[in-house]
Amino acid sequence: MIASSKRALVTGITGQDGSYLAQLLLGKGYRVFGAVRRTSRSNLARLEELGIARDVELIEFDLLEFSNILRLVEQILPDEIYNLAAQQPQSPSPWPFRASNRRDLPLLRDDPEPLHTGNCDGLGVARLLEAIRTVNPKIRFYQASSSEMFGKTSQAPQSEVTPFEPRGAYAVAKLYGHWMTVSYRESYGIHATSGILFNHESPLRGQEFVTRKITASLAKIKHGELEILSLGNLDAQRDWGFAGDYVEGMWLMLQQSAGDDYVLATGETHTVRDFVSTSATMLGFDIVFEGAGSNERGIDRRTGRTLIRINPKFYRPANLNQLYGNPLKAEQAMGWTRRTTFLQLVALMVEADDRRVSNKRLTF
Ligand code: NAP
Repeated sequence: MIASSKRALVTGITGQDGSYLAQLLLGKGYRVFGAVRRTSRSNLARLEELGIARDVELIEFDLLEFSNILRLVEQILPDEIYNLAAQQPQSPSPWPFRASNRRDLPLLRDDPEPLHTGNCDGLGVARLLEAIRTVNPKIRFYQASSSEMFGKTSQAPQSEVTPFEPRGAYAVAKLYGHWMTVSYRESYGIHATSGILFNHESPLRGQEFVTRKITASLAKIKHGELEILSLGNLDAQRDWGFAGDYVEGMWLMLQQSAGDDYVLATGETHTVRDFVSTSATMLGFDIVFEGAGSNERGIDRRTGRTLIRINPKFYRPANLNQLYGNPLKAEQAMGWTRRTTFLQLVALMVEADDRRVSNKRLTF
């Protein structure tokens, strides 16, 4: 706990990371301002679940409008800005805008709005940095960069010095935001930091992401509200950490004497299959997989019932090489540690969804 009434401006406060970060900052005595787009005012379920919806001060903003951002920064005069707002690529869905049915082509990750993604996730960062430079260059800035910027790299694990090879509108836009963060740091001496974060999950993850889709769907199956969980490639591997640990890393980054770039990761990978099996066991199922490719099925050994099927429409195009990170710099320079193991993460998510479905309170 620091004795302060520091002011933090958090964009994307209605999302997973924004909610956990707001909770952390409030606990440290910050006054927390949440920048939300107009449509987000009705989307406070995560902040409500953490019991902090009334403790954050919400202000409307638009990442696409420079004058609006400038006014916001002038009004609030924050000590720290955390830019977490972004259009994110999600688990593939059968979008009607799909440009091609070829799943082996490096499509722009099926992003139906690549220009909007670039404007929001790339240029939006430049607008915030320019507002900081104009209003008060002493404001500290955190940019939510992503491991997806490593894209098709063949080097593993990835660290701050691994070359970027982004694919898709999201990763390319994030890389623009990353380099603008570095540029404003180097050119104007702004305390600007790029946190290159690998996947992080939690009970507050959106159901459009595969981990949460798994825990929410299996909980629904257990309570008789769903028949089948449909997934894409079960052997896809990810480096999954717990969002609560990662927002602590974001805060630590802004407490250092200067801005820098840091990778936050677990350094471990697990397959989607691991995630499904572990979740299912925790919910009382005993899954065995039979068949191959799109004919593979997950069967509950106790009842003989098929619970999991493969649907090729959920395969991701332009599959990336194996991404897993090396968080050594963050550990050594800032003392960051991830406290939550893979099993603890799955347990947190499973327990939350089991409780929500059982209480008929699955609100996001
Ligand atoms: P999230 O749950 O999807 O939240 C995204 C937030 O961004 C939401 O508050 C959303 O607001 C807001 N947003 C989306 N489009 C916007 C727009 N056009 N203008 C203004 N706000 C917009 O994401 P998260 O998992 O918390 O991730 C936070 C940040 O970290 C993102 O920048 C993401 O790209 C980055 N990141 C995440 C991960 C991860 O594994 N979670 C890994 C690396 C980097 P609404 O409520 O209005 O939709």
